[in-house]
Amino acid sequence: MHTLQILLQALGVILLADFLAGVIHWLEDAYGTEETPVLGPLVIRPNIVHHHYPRFFTKLTWWQSSWDLLLIGMLIIGGAAWAGVLTWHVWLFVLLSINANQVHKWSHQTRAENGRVVSFLQDCWILQTPRQHALHHTDPKNTYYCPITNLVNPTLEFIGLWPKLEALIEAFTGATHRADSSNRGEGPTPAWVIEHRRPVPAATPTSLTGPGSCP
Ligand SMILES: [Zn+2]
Ligand SMILES: [Zn+2]
Repeated sequence: MHTLQILLQALGVILLADFLAGVIHWLEDAYGTEETPVLGPLVIRPNIVHHHYPRFFTKLTWWQSSWDLLLIGMLIIGGAAWAGVLTWHVWLFVLLSINANQVHKWSHQTRAENGRVVSFLQDCWILQTPRQHALHHTDPKNTYYCPITNLVNPTLEFIGLWPKLEALIEAFTGATHRADSSNRGEGPTPAWVIEHRRPVPAATPTSLTGPGSCP
């Protein structure tokens, strides 16, 4: 296969992994609640805690923040092997997807915490920059859901994908985007969120917007 063809296919897989991670993130933020069966306590609560205390999950281990993605990734690998379509594209997709939360975590860490390699990859826009991810954490926290690269979000925001999907869902089911209790004026903070308030130092402005060193 031609090298350019391989690179273009790899780029397609990367964009797909980022897009699907964004779709899952959007579903969690927009329609998941703490009362959602099974997923509520396992996935939605940590997500809501993250909106209140963005730096909290930087103290979690890879296993603590990625076990659910690893489980899904193993199911995809198993399913693809069973169907006889376990190509390098599937491996790359799963490798990226199971690390989506880790890349997200790097967006909340300082350059010193991330080290030179990750900071370099962020500076080159190969990994999502903290500056772009900070747009998701801007009230009302309903934009820039994709966590892996800087490439997908601007396109989705340009075409207004998320509000259009939400309008469609509301028209067919009546369900609307859940109010985020971490938004200003959106009611009291739940006690199970407050218990996660720990003295985790905030990322410095420099770490969020520091000058790039990518050549
Ligand atoms: Zn979110
Ligand atoms: Zn975040």
